[in-house]
Amino acid sequence: MDPDCLFCKIGAKKIPARLVYEDDDVFAFEDINPQAPTHILICPRRHFEALHAAQHSDQSLLGKLQLVAAKLATERDLLSGYRTVFNNGSGAGQSVFHLHLHLLGGRHFRWPPG
Ligand code: AMP
Ligand code: ZN
Repeated sequence: MDPDCLFCKIGAKKIPARLVYEDDDVFAFEDINPQAPTHILICPRRHFEALHAAQHSDQSLLGKLQLVAAKLATERDLLSGYRTVFNNGSGAGQSVFHLHLHLLGGRHFRWPPG
């Protein structure tokens, strides 16, 4: 855990959040500033700054983030259209430097994204 990291603190329940899923590897919570009717952030418990900080040995953990997103999308009836997004680096809009997968759903999404 990084003692200065907001999402590490949420994962350790030192800062409150609306948790929607957790297990030994991963936790997920509602985004505080939702950009869609469903907007959930799915994080590894281990602190990674971004996708490029992950190692080959993290393959299954990265896959698990996507599978948790698919499970939540299924449970929430979002299968007609949902999006999973990693923002990596400030140029891509990353503002919290603990890797997180955005799950967005419940509205129409345009392509390309902004
Ligand atoms: P990103 O810009 O990809 O790094 O995403 C960070 C996300 O974290 C944004 O969508 C924020 O709204 C969200 N966020 C920031 N602080 C909190 C918080 N305390 N609880 C829940 N979501 C948060
Ligand atoms: Zn962290």
